Parts: sequence; structure tokens; C-alpha cells
Amino acid sequence: MAKKNIDWSNLSFSYMPTDKRYVSMFKDGAWDEGALVDDPNIVLNECACVFQYAQTVFEGLKAYETEDGRTVIFRPDLNAQRLADSARRLSMAPFPEDRFIDAVKQTVKANLDYVPPYGSGASLYIRPFLMGTNAVIGVQPATEYMFRILTTPVGPYFKGGVKPIYIKVSDYDRAAPHGTGHIKAGLNYAMSLYPIVKAHEEGFAENMYLDAATRTYVEETGGANFLFVTKDGKLVTPKSDSILPSITRRSLMYVAEHYLGMEVEHRPVPFEEVPEFAEIGLCGTAAVISPIGKISDHGKDICVPSGMDEIGPVLKKLRETLINIQECRIEAPEGWVHVIE
Ligand SMILES: *Cc1c(COP(=O)(O)O)cnc(C)c1O
Repeated sequence: MAKKNIDWSNLSFSYMPTDKRYVSMFKDGAWDEGALVDDPNIVLNECACVFQYAQTVFEGLKAYETEDGRTVIFRPDLNAQRLADSARRLSMAPFPEDRFIDAVKQTVKANLDYVPPYGSGASLYIRPFLMGTNAVIGVQPATEYMFRILTTPVGPYFKGGVKPIYIKVSDYDRAAPHGTGHIKAGLNYAMSLYPIVKAHEEGFAENMYLDAATRTYVEETGGANFLFVTKDGKLVTPKSDSILPSITRRSLMYVAEHYLGMEVEHRPVPFEEVPEFAEIGLCGTAAVISPIGKISDHGKDICVPSGMDEIGPVLKKLRETLINIQECRIEAPEGWVHVIE
């Protein structure tokens, strides 16, 4: 094994094809045995359900090296479960959960030379996805599906230190009540493109979406859940049926309670309460925690007490503890860290 000659610490979050990808096809009511393939391109009929009616769902996780040179992945069982939940909501054939982890491990193993070395801050991003592949013109679910896993090396999320971001309250909605906000589907991202491009043009890093029905509760951003820390040190995370159940958020709630002895509340969070919090952050696989320094509410700034210079002390501790668990410097709860062998 020889690592590829890549400038690991200067990688960005962009696609770089690696040697192998995993493919399994569903046809006549059954999944085939699956295989690793070389070709990064997909040839499909022009009328495939994925093209006409966006019948596609995905996952995101990462593989990284630990200090002792092992390559590991974090809680892939939750990705397996969430992908199957997402598939069922779009009437797709779910990829068997008991095969998902093996497929991810095979794919990472076949691309080990692309797993960034320990200490570079970079990781091998893993993107499992599922799509309806046969031709349909009437609106109906496909009967044939492709499950695929691609990997791509990505750089550290924060180069040169964790920096708080400035976000805005969006006037657009991300997810309807009883809609698809709780599943990881491309369609939720397609409709977030226009608002995020506009927010970026205005100088904001992200959009804070409120609940679509009443615009009074905090939901999430386009791709990350919110974390709030109260002045007396409680961790509060918004609860709603239209929020995507982030694996990072669920892990941080556990870490806060069981490793740091914090009180944790998972409940609806009124937007009115936001100025009361001591620290605010976003969480997801890529950044783990990204601190928020300021929120623009229609021209009026809510300045988070922890400020724009650095991450607040509670979120800092939480972030470091989870990263230490992921990188095996602190013992992980049973089943959280899977070694690629
Ligand atoms: C993927 C995603 C997240 C983060 O989930 P993780 O499992 O922690 O990576 C949060 N919100 C949305 C909308 C997402 O798609």
C-alpha cells in the first residue's frame, strides 16, 4: 500500500475520482450481489425515474486514519438505517441494511491509498446513494434501482482554526410539515440552491430555516442541525418532524450527557429564544461543530455572546470530545467506531 501523491492539507471539499466504486443493482424484486467497478460514469436511459422525478436519496460519512495507522468509519449502522428510511419515503427499494456496512468497508478498502494520513485533518468522504434507474414517464416509482458508493478525499473543513460564521434567517422554507425534510433526498437540496446562492452573495455562510407552518421555531440550515448552549450550560437541540436526524447531533447529545455530564434537551426551540443562548453552533459529518457568531434577522443582528473570534468553551469541549472519540483517543461507546480490515 502506498498513499497517493496528494497535497492532503490543501484539499478542498470537491470531487476527485478514486480507483474503485461499489455498485449493486435491484431488478425483478431482488438486489444482485454487488461489485467494485472502475468506471466513474453511469449510463442510464434518458427517461430514468431519477432524471424525470428526482427519485434519489443519499448518505454521507467519512473514513479517516487513527494515530496507530488504522482506518476507521464512524457509526455506519446509522447511515444504513437512515438510507433505508429515506428510500421508503420515496417508494424506493431500500438497500439491505445488513449489507450496507460491508459495502462501505469494501469500497474504503479498495481506495485505502486515498485515505488521508493521520494528522492532515483531511478524510476520505464516502457518498452512498440510491436511484431509480428504469424509464418511467407516468409519475410512478421505478422498479429498478442502482445503489452506488463513491469516495473522494476531502480537506479539513476548517483551515487555520475553527472560526465562527455569520448566518441569516431565511425567508424561504426548507421543508414542509409532513413533507420530506426528515429524509436525505437530493430534492431537499435542489430547492435550497437558490436561497444559499443568494445568502452567499449577501455575505452569509448559511441560511437558518424556520418551521414552514408558523415561522416561529428554529429548524436547521440546508445541511446541518443546530446546537444551542444555555447560559447555565445545558445543550438544547431543536426537535421537529421536518428536521433531518443528524448522526453527529445524536452522537453529540450522547457525549454531552454521558461523557461531559451535561443536561441535554431535545425539544422545539422558538426563534424568540435564540438571543438567550450563550453559544450556538451547527453540526454535521464534515465540520463536526461549526460555531455561529452572529445571526442576521432581517437586517437586525443577533450577536451570540461567544462572539466572532472563536468557538465558545462548551461547544469547543463537545467538539474536541467527539473528535477524540472518533479518532480513538478516548474510548468510544460500543459499536461507534468500525475498523476497516
Ligand atoms: C446530512 C445532513 C445533516 C447532517 O447529518 P450528519 O449525519 O450529522 O452528517 C443535517 N441536515 C441535513 C439537511 C442533512 O442533509
